[in-house]
Amino acid sequence: MYTIREIQDRIMTKQISCTELTKLYLDAAAADTLNAYITSTPEHALAAAGAVDRKIAAGESLRPLEGVPVCVKDNISTAGILTTCASRMLEDYVPFYDAHAWTLLKGQGAVLIGKGNMDEFAMGSTGETSRFGSTANPVDPRYVAGGSSSGCAAAVAGNLAVCAMGSDTGGSVRLPAAYCGAVGFKPTYGAASRRGLVAFASSFDQIGPIGGSVEDVAALLDAITGKDPGDMTHRGLTPVRPQLTGSVKGLRVGLAGEFFEELPASVAAALTEAVSVLENAGAEIVKVRFPLLQTCLPLYYILSSAEASSNLGRYDGIRYGHRAPEGDTLHETICRSRSEGFGAEVKRRILLGTYVLRAGYKDDYYGKAQKLRLTVRAELEKLFESCDLLLTPTVPHTARQKGESLEPVQTYRSDLCTVPANIAGVPAVSVPCGRDENGLPIGLQLMGRAFRDGLVLNAAYAYELATAGAYLAKTDRGVRL
Ligand code: GLN
Repeated sequence: MYTIREIQDRIMTKQISCTELTKLYLDAAAADTLNAYITSTPEHALAAAGAVDRKIAAGESLRPLEGVPVCVKDNISTAGILTTCASRMLEDYVPFYDAHAWTLLKGQGAVLIGKGNMDEFAMGSTGETSRFGSTANPVDPRYVAGGSSSGCAAAVAGNLAVCAMGSDTGGSVRLPAAYCGAVGFKPTYGAASRRGLVAFASSFDQIGPIGGSVEDVAALLDAITGKDPGDMTHRGLTPVRPQLTGSVKGLRVGLAGEFFEELPASVAAALTEAVSVLENAGAEIVKVRFPLLQTCLPLYYILSSAEASSNLGRYDGIRYGHRAPEGDTLHETICRSRSEGFGAEVKRRILLGTYVLRAGYKDDYYGKAQKLRLTVRAELEKLFESCDLLLTPTVPHTARQKGESLEPVQTYRSDLCTVPANIAGVPAVSVPCGRDENGLPIGLQLMGRAFRDGLVLNAAYAYELATAGAYLAKTDRGVRL
């Protein structure tokens, strides 16, 4: 993986022009066998690269993301460019406006190589629910890249982009980053605008960066948190990059035993090692408890499916989305369109969501889960009185082989450690911290209080410095400079 600095240095010192560099990434994306991209965007990329080259010729300096090849998840709206959500429902959908985060990133001069593959409508943890086929893990293509931002993580770790913008509703940035050996960050809910991000579960959804270093993830985050009056949940964020000091002296890092039950030996060993790295760097390790952990999964799946069933109601083939051949009645046309347009996992979530919201039964599931969400939030807030950060595995295991069929609920269990941050709306990062016996990456998760994104990223930065980035994916795929 190349860092933003390495890329910009090469362009600035004229070792390679931005146009040449962009062509390398476009060619690599075209030759890609990982299935990281759904759509490639050469026209956009070459136009943006040309503008960067003109700036350099004029002797101007580059802004933080300028000239940097990026991948954008295919549920983030890009005007004039297909945005399919990896679904047959939106197979031909070309938005007429840009998501706010993409407007900002584009405005910074980032070069879009293509739209990243993903689980359909961001529902999944393996990348295998995509209408366009699953994404392979660049570290070992027999394994899944993780999901739902599968293409983003694979593109970064497979050198098909330098960094990427994904979305995280229950772990979709952090989990694939962990599986692929990249850094992934879910910001505080409200840090980045969600306008133009196709809604899955609006009270959980956040856009988040994936990169080959903590610094790059911080740079991308700073580029996309600018004000958006068009999203009432958007609050913005103090720039995080200046907060990367690399020091964790005196920082209290909490360990809750609940997150460490039933871990495979390789994951447990990598985590233990990571804890001592932080301790040696001056952090204080404190024992904390999070007894509600096991409650978080059902809670997340009830609430996110309820919100999804409502958000996905708009795809009826009439106002929006795939239209089946007309039936005898309007109702029949809508039923056929939805039956054909959505894949099995999306249908499962809509059914589950409709079930938990059905008239007369709302208080049994949805109401109860809403109340519990407040309890989880309160418990985490309390936990953060005795520590500054919570350290957990990102996923309780490593990537599994492609095509291994699992019960849906078994797959849902991969999200055990990532959903609490979405439930509470707090920031969480995943950094590579080891490899299992098959050489597959293991991720370390650090979670903090709301709007302490800088603190969370700084601890990850300190860890990365202390380990000299030893666990970041190194593959001989994609672009070689
Ligand atoms: N794996 C989780 C789900 O399927 C999270 C998805 C996400 O964060 N978009 O719901």
